[in-house]
Amino acid sequence: MNTVDYDAVVVGAGAGGIYAVHKLTQAGLRVIAFEGAPDVGGVWYHNRYPGARVDIESYFYCFPDEDLYPRWTWKERYPAQPEILAYLNFAADTWGVRPHIRFSTWVTGAQWESSAHRYRVTASSGESVTARHLVMASGQLSKARPPAFPGLEDFRGRWVQTAHWPTDHVETAGKRIAVIGTGSSGVQAVPALARDAENVTVFHRTANYSVPAQNGPLDQQKYADYASRVSEMREKILHHPVGSDIPLGAGPASSFSPDEQQALLRQRWARGGHTMNAVFSDQGTDIHANTLVADFVRQHVRDTVKDPAKAEILMPHAYPIGTRRLCVDTGYYEAFNQSNVDLIDINHDPIERITEKGIRTRNHDLEFDLLVFALGFNAFTGALDEANIRNELGERPSDRWSRGPRTLLGLMTRGFPNLFVLTGPGSPSVLANMILDNVQHVDFVADMLRHMGERGHTRVEPEEKAQDEWTAHVAEAASNLLRLNVENYMVHVNREDGTRVFMPYVGGLDKYVEHCEKVVADDFVGFSFS
Ligand code: FAD
Repeated sequence: MNTVDYDAVVVGAGAGGIYAVHKLTQAGLRVIAFEGAPDVGGVWYHNRYPGARVDIESYFYCFPDEDLYPRWTWKERYPAQPEILAYLNFAADTWGVRPHIRFSTWVTGAQWESSAHRYRVTASSGESVTARHLVMASGQLSKARPPAFPGLEDFRGRWVQTAHWPTDHVETAGKRIAVIGTGSSGVQAVPALARDAENVTVFHRTANYSVPAQNGPLDQQKYADYASRVSEMREKILHHPVGSDIPLGAGPASSFSPDEQQALLRQRWARGGHTMNAVFSDQGTDIHANTLVADFVRQHVRDTVKDPAKAEILMPHAYPIGTRRLCVDTGYYEAFNQSNVDLIDINHDPIERITEKGIRTRNHDLEFDLLVFALGFNAFTGALDEANIRNELGERPSDRWSRGPRTLLGLMTRGFPNLFVLTGPGSPSVLANMILDNVQHVDFVADMLRHMGERGHTRVEPEEKAQDEWTAHVAEAASNLLRLNVENYMVHVNREDGTRVFMPYVGGLDKYVEHCEKVVADDFVGFSFS
């Protein structure tokens, strides 16, 4: 009775799912994937809002694959969503993964059947399959927080979410648009929408730090150079803390004179994007070093935004820089100098309700044609919970994680045999290049499944001691971070006592890869097989 329809079910067909199907089928396994969307692409399918862009340079935000890499090139350093979606389609087609994927089909349940060492996976189509292994490529930022404003159902215009931007045309030209939310997506969308809207009104609660991407054309010579030595490039970025080639902190801020500090800040600013996260090696742990960087960004806001009242609202003060995801923009602060861009500080003028014609705040009754909600995600556990994965005791992973995720390498959780979570909590995840994260995880899983196949094993789960040690290591790595004490989606707060757990592994992708390499070299020490 120990038979299965498939060796592995893959959930999701974003970058991680595409690569998982490719790699596991290449390894000769029988694989089926389910994707709720009608096509591949994951976040790049769903987040098709104007201005959506990657913020890791495109030399690295792609598959470091010998065959694929030289056959593609990018136009920009930080490509926009259509180009990334085209790339993921190219990858899916080149690798021939589509026939393995059931599109427009959500996984609605996955029950571990302990006597048969398999999952029974049920889908929204009514289909039910069994598989030895369950590979969750369901994304950490794939479950958007829905808008929950009273009166939304009364609105007679159109409303959309950045994270589920419709595939049909959303008219923005000449429209009166409200943008609610100023995280990464809102910051990207505002300048793009302001280009042709009659008016964009930004409803603003927390001023986030945003730094310019300094986007531009891709250096084709540099890309061609990487294309000629993909394996070498791949090893190099796998052994970099965030999976790219951005410079690391130059040293503790106190080791530089004030003039040198300012010169470094200007240098990193000119390079753009996430380099501002690592100007000084101690800016994530030392508030004085952090303030130097934060002040530099605040000065940019002051210098850029002409209206002092708007500049004051946009000035990020609520938390140290980099303790929430740093936004990377193209013309965000500049957009507020346009006569068609307004700003409402909802701390002082809160939204009371959505009306038939627009939005009523305490002090205004405003009319809009289009409402754009950019409200962030139920990160890390949102998609896992919705897939309704149950172990033999009927528990979901998040039931076991009520005091923070407990994993071995972020990939597996004790009590859930044969369940692999790609880019999950306990791994570098959102702190590094997530295509590379996915590739590294899938390669690790493929190695493990080969190891099991060779030995006739059909069940694997972490040993308790190894899981405890990894969980403690993840916590220790984050223990002196400023960001541990800031409200943000990477921190799990325990309800009973307020203690905090930083979910991704902050030790760096390079250190993480070293751990994984040791585990593989040591015949998957820490995992128990049967
Ligand atoms: P996803 O792309 O999220 O794909 C998961 C897929 O699983 C989705 O298509 C979803 O529909 C599907 N799914 C989920 N649950 C189910 C289910 N129950 N049944 C069936 N299907 C399901 N990362 C970076 O490294 N650099 C960046 O610059 C960057 N920019 C980003 C910008 C935006 C706007 C967003 C939202 C994310 C960004 N990310 C970035 C993070 C991004 O999540 C990853 O880079 C990467 O795309 C993740 O790929 P994935 O395959 O792991 O997950």
